[in-house]
Amino acid sequence: MDSDYQHILIAVDFSSHTEEVCSKAQALAQRNNARLSICHIVEDFPLTDFAYEPMISVDIDMREALLEAGKKQLGKRAEEMGIPASQQWVECGSPGHNLVRIADENQVDLIVVGSHGRHGIKMLLGSTANAVLHHAHCDVLAVRLKDD
Ligand code: AMP
Repeated sequence: MDSDYQHILIAVDFSSHTEEVCSKAQALAQRNNARLSICHIVEDFPLTDFAYEPMISVDIDMREALLEAGKKQLGKRAEEMGIPASQQWVECGSPGHNLVRIADENQVDLIVVGSHGRHGIKMLLGSTANAVLHHAHCDVLAVRLKDD
């Protein structure tokens, strides 16, 4: 196999398939002698309606708490894999959109996702995997995951 890839990004949703997706990406990175990065997107949740103005501060606090929890969890996983803090991203928003943007901004040439995760149970391809495959400007590997 040619050493095609220089920077591989793993997308992690902390579903039960995370281990499998990470191992595949790590093996690919080793074979290609590529840099390995990891990211998790904290999804927007629906308490942002202007009609609920009194809840906005709670909403922001909750988002901050979720971001912190995400950073902690991703940090643990990254440490196990030897990925430094400079190669870890945790952001808020739509997973598909943000994964593609992070890849674009960091010269990623391969994004590794699971074929499905928390949104795609029972589907051949989940909604995030589908969005990344449609919109990424680099190669995408969807690791075929079997249902639990
Ligand atoms: P889904 O399409 O949402 O069922 O998930 C498919 C794959 O997309 C998962 O196995 C992950 O690799 C990735 N993914 C889904 N949600 C996220 C998220 N919030 N942050 C990072 N990656 C995600």
